[in-house]
Amino acid sequence: MPLITAARAYLVDLEVETVRTDALQTFVKQETLFVEIDTDDGLTGTGYSYTIGTGGRATLSMLRDHLIPLLPGLDAASTETVWRTLFLHTKATTVGVITALALAAVDTAIWDLKSRREGLPLWQVAGGHRPEVPLYDTEGGWLQLSVDELVRGAAASRDAGWRGVKVKIGKPDPHEDLERLVAVRSVIGPGMDLMVDANQSLTSADAIRRAHILEPVDLFWIEEPLPAEDVAGHERLAAATPTPIAVGESIYSVGQFREYLQRGAAGIVQVDVARIGGITPWLKVAHLAEAFNVEVCPHFLMELHVSLTAAVPNGRYVEHIPQLRAITTNRIEIRDGVAVAPTAPGLGIEWDPDAVDDRRVA
Ligand code: MG
Repeated sequence: MPLITAARAYLVDLEVETVRTDALQTFVKQETLFVEIDTDDGLTGTGYSYTIGTGGRATLSMLRDHLIPLLPGLDAASTETVWRTLFLHTKATTVGVITALALAAVDTAIWDLKSRREGLPLWQVAGGHRPEVPLYDTEGGWLQLSVDELVRGAAASRDAGWRGVKVKIGKPDPHEDLERLVAVRSVIGPGMDLMVDANQSLTSADAIRRAHILEPVDLFWIEEPLPAEDVAGHERLAAATPTPIAVGESIYSVGQFREYLQRGAAGIVQVDVARIGGITPWLKVAHLAEAFNVEVCPHFLMELHVSLTAAVPNGRYVEHIPQLRAITTNRIEIRDGVAVAPTAPGLGIEWDPDAVDDRRVA
């Protein structure tokens, strides 16, 4: 068994590739937590997780002070053992986002090692359903964009072959949201999917009202309409509108997903591999959703999520939102709006060590 001999963690600040504003926040920078793990069979695995601008140094402290010291001597091939060992050690701070992000940085490094050791790409090591996944585009739909800019973005997405586009909502007047969506729908036609994202900005009653106002544009889903802890509100909304409710980017444990699914409060699961604590729990959420006949369309991190979505039978869509191009030397291959899972063993991400070092802040 391949024993872990050493591990290290560091923080890299990565500039955003485009201005991204939603109803509640702006993506300031990608604080990128890296973990490297060496094993006694001569391999090194690299994993990562991220924040959109806050909490990076707290996550780094969690890694350096509490998780990294536990790794030497553990069997790197036993993904569950490694994950459970770290999870139980941090039990007092779970379920919590800092701990989940720290666990994910370690767990993705463990899966990088596992994939390299088996000589197979991640999409196959993680399950291997099919090698290609459709993409939808988020980059043309930010809330700060004007109607003209939305229309230009939608036309570009259509011409690029994306299967769908996502537009942020949450303007003070929902009829302004509707006007923006009507303009986008007129560009993409009835054949492309149109998603909206409220980023947890609505109240339970207002979300029901707004969902009805937006029904004429035939939404594929309404994402994060309410604060993530308001499961009952999502349940009521799901019962009141034909539009599927998508949640997941602000959910940090498998059990919380179970609660949503049991109550019929989620029609689409958007589990995020960093925020759920790594690939090990990500796969459990995807399989749990499958048991409820619900599809998975993960949040952000397309560089990892193409492989994971390709691994499971209920993977429907990956969000086109590239964010690693400044520090990597390879790109996800995209053919006519469909992403091809990387074929190299490992996570399929080729880091540019000089570009990473240039941005290292801790
Ligand atoms: Mg979202």
